[in-house]
Amino acid sequence: MALKPLTQAEQDAILKAFGGGKSNFKQGASQRKAFDENRRDKAGEDPLSIILSVDDVKGQYDTSRTLMTTIGGKQREITGSDLEAFRRNIDTVRKAFKQGITANQVLDLSLKMDLDNAKAQIHTAIPVRYKGDVLHFMTNASKESEVRQHYVTVRFLDLGAIATTPIPLLTATKTVAQGYLAFDCDCGRHTFWYRFISTIGGFNAGRAETGFPKIRNPHLSGVACKHVLRVMFSLNQALAISKIKEMVKIVRASAKPLEELPENQLSAKEVKDAAKRQVEKAHHDRNQVRRSVDDPVKQRKAKKEAERFAKAAQTDAQKQRAERKRIIANGSPMEKLNLRRDLENRVKTLQREYGQTSNENLLDAMENLQNDINGLI
Ligand SMILES: [Zn+2]
Repeated sequence: MALKPLTQAEQDAILKAFGGGKSNFKQGASQRKAFDENRRDKAGEDPLSIILSVDDVKGQYDTSRTLMTTIGGKQREITGSDLEAFRRNIDTVRKAFKQGITANQVLDLSLKMDLDNAKAQIHTAIPVRYKGDVLHFMTNASKESEVRQHYVTVRFLDLGAIATTPIPLLTATKTVAQGYLAFDCDCGRHTFWYRFISTIGGFNAGRAETGFPKIRNPHLSGVACKHVLRVMFSLNQALAISKIKEMVKIVRASAKPLEELPENQLSAKEVKDAAKRQVEKAHHDRNQVRRSVDDPVKQRKAKKEAERFAKAAQTDAQKQRAERKRIIANGSPMEKLNLRRDLENRVKTLQREYGQTSNENLLDAMENLQNDINGLI
């Protein structure tokens, strides 16, 4: 079903998020950060702290604290078996994200509720400044929110390594955008539901959160708020790509460590214009946040990539077969000896595999290899 364009009033309300000029981009983010740190410090220092710490979860929990959880659905006091469940959930998250997380995975692993909210409420994600491997975004907040905008931080974990690899700039840029990353958002959902997950999962780009979300998210499900989801979706779009390209260029041209690189800010006009373009096109189908499996653009790209890979592999296999024929027919004695060793090793590998799988196709492959070996003797 086609979506309706945002009304002029809706567009104007969203554009207010990007007012206040350049200083708002940075100061706004710093103020939120300071507020969050202060709130967390106070919560942790309170003698009646309700934060469930790492030590608590490890098993040093004093039951007289009678903290509450919602694990199992209802709010009630935490028991010993809850701690076990918390530990299991932590292990699961750690294992799931051992390799890191990419923008597509954030979208694919998100909860439907967050995805639906991103689609319905968050229509802008504008990169406003960048430094080294960190790109800062601003998004609009939902109509119901107490604030107008949210600040989302993305750190591209492989940028340094990819930027210094001698590959074309655009290839490097896209590899960075689709590679492993860490993120942070100043909103309540990220702070109280997801920051703990991103901390233990190793993809946190802000203040680390060590307090277990025992009431809001004891099952540790989902990964990202609606603002982060909108930003992850935008990493595949021209505006963010152009900024990531700048970041790669800067790192390529400089010998300095990433953290010593200067910060670049977009102008207030550039940000406002970009936001305006996004709200005007918010109803376009290709601007709807979605999982990569539901994204026709990403699916087409993946299909092309797979076809290219299959073709390359096929050409490779054809080349190999031709080379093998040549050596069998009239290769040098050394070439023949090397090929024979290689083929014998392959037969051994296939024999082992056949022992484990009894896959009949392997027998044919082994017979073909054996015929080639016979031709070499
Ligand atoms: Zn958020």
